[in-house]
Amino acid sequence: MRVQGPDRFALARRDFLICSAVLGAVVAWPLRSATAADFHRFTHGAFDITVLSDGYLTLPAEILLPDAMPPEQEQILRRLRGDRTGAPVAANIPLIRHGSDLILIDNGAGINFQASAGRLAANLRTLGISPEAITKVVFTHLHPDHSGATTTPEGKALYPNAEYFVGDREFTFWTDKDYEAHMPPALHDFARGAQRDLASVGTRLTIVKPGDEIVPGMHVVSTPGHTPGHISIELAGDGNLLVTGDACTSDVIFFEHPAWHFGFDTDQDLALRNRQALLDRAATERFKMLGYHWAYPGIGYAERKGTSYRFVKGS
Ligand SMILES: [Zn+2]
Repeated sequence: MRVQGPDRFALARRDFLICSAVLGAVVAWPLRSATAADFHRFTHGAFDITVLSDGYLTLPAEILLPDAMPPEQEQILRRLRGDRTGAPVAANIPLIRHGSDLILIDNGAGINFQASAGRLAANLRTLGISPEAITKVVFTHLHPDHSGATTTPEGKALYPNAEYFVGDREFTFWTDKDYEAHMPPALHDFARGAQRDLASVGTRLTIVKPGDEIVPGMHVVSTPGHTPGHISIELAGDGNLLVTGDACTSDVIFFEHPAWHFGFDTDQDLALRNRQALLDRAATERFKMLGYHWAYPGIGYAERKGTSYRFVKGS
């Protein structure tokens, strides 16, 4: 079902799907969003981490598991609490306290994606944390479900005292002035949104490269494919913790079927190779991961199971 061909974006088939998936969820699954009692908190090395929910997104079957055949496709979607048309996925955002820093890895959708997302600000309020208290926001990538909350309706940065971090290749990709000529139409709204958000951040933006250290023990790791400059964030501790963003978008589908593609990956084959490498390395080194769209709180390990993997919940 996936479009094959030389177009590295492989998006022709997805223009319609992205419109229907992004501009409004067709079905609202009755998922409970996080309440104060749900906040998952743990420590990792020098980091005190609370996983907040930005709500959830609904993704169509053709995006979530385009390589699955119909009977298995529906079985998996139902395990994910969806139906044969699609399924909900979580949106997990770690709030990380380190010394005097209060750091968000991604900041959620705001009002710029599906209405079932954009809950981060309310969840921060529930914890008694004001927007002014956030000192750093690190973007894994600039898709609207991860960075869409950056700009207020007044055009200002939502977290007025924060320093913002974005990968160098991600910055270059989305700030292309000729994006309408260089990107397929399905990405034009994403590019406009990314440029709006980077403009609202202004001079408080720091462009990082793989290997850079954001605070002591927090490093940038290159995991491109989902977007050209997608990064993950590694936190040193007792064994590393890797915040994987969208390098692996499902703790069920891609652990159990690591040869399957994901419809929203910009460079499908590069994303696939890097996802396989990530899972292989995670299983071998047994480091902990935190996945943005994995079932809340999205923390766990990859355990080998034949030629695939099993997601093992961690804490
Ligand atoms: Zn995402």
